[in-house]
Amino acid sequence: MKLPFTLLSPSQENCLPLVFDSPHSGINFPSDFKSEVPLSQLKSGWDAFIDDLWQDAVKVGGHLLHADFSRMYIDPNRAPNDIDPALLDAPWHECQPTKYSERGMGLIRRYALPNVAMYKEPLSRAQIEHRIKHYYQPYHQALSATLAKLHQDFGAVWHIDCHSMKSKGNGMNIDNGVARPDIILGDNLGQAAGAEFVQVVEDAFSKRGYNVVRNTPYKGGYLVTHYGNIKDNRHSMQIEINRALYMNEKAFTPNDNYHNFKQDISQVVKDIADYVSANV
Ligand SMILES: [Zn+2]
Repeated sequence: MKLPFTLLSPSQENCLPLVFDSPHSGINFPSDFKSEVPLSQLKSGWDAFIDDLWQDAVKVGGHLLHADFSRMYIDPNRAPNDIDPALLDAPWHECQPTKYSERGMGLIRRYALPNVAMYKEPLSRAQIEHRIKHYYQPYHQALSATLAKLHQDFGAVWHIDCHSMKSKGNGMNIDNGVARPDIILGDNLGQAAGAEFVQVVEDAFSKRGYNVVRNTPYKGGYLVTHYGNIKDNRHSMQIEINRALYMNEKAFTPNDNYHNFKQDISQVVKDIADYVSANV
């Protein structure tokens, strides 16, 4: 079976303990996915082009991991037991739904958009276990093995979890209807990444004219909280980019600014790599 992710690695000689991951830029739906929700609506959760925008990470010594499957199938940025029992055809003791499941967007989405249910029929435990085993776990294994190896080799590792956000939240978001800034950095309120590192990332964006906000409304999801451990020199932070900066949000196509924005991201990546390189 083909691996459900792509992992791009730098050359041996310029390898840095720096890892970027994009869990939501995949748009493949495995054949066991049965939903009547049209693709145009399933795309709402797609972090389109994020894997492409961060591509230069590899040139400066970083790794870049991105999922090939859609987060509407299973979401790597959730705890593996963040499952809404209402999705299931029978009780399952494994379910530990969190605030994400309550909003319809747990490990397995219950709603594609507000009031748009993903499934007509309940799912079986076996169907969900299949998604975990063949998609969720391989993604996490690739990420954790990459982070562990770099941490072992360098004594520290810096991880950036890359996302995009709609320019305005909808009814499933905690900031329904509010216009969002250009960039939101999430470090779990200072607990997942060192302050100096987060400042470097903030400066990299703000000096290029972007308005940057920290932790509001996104303080980082499961990936950042799960992999960040400052005491052990494992730094993990999330970057949310406003989609209006580089794409037509309705058509899901690059806009006229795409090329310019991608060049800015390449410069941001360089600043981040310079910081990591000076600290190993
Ligand atoms: Zn995302």
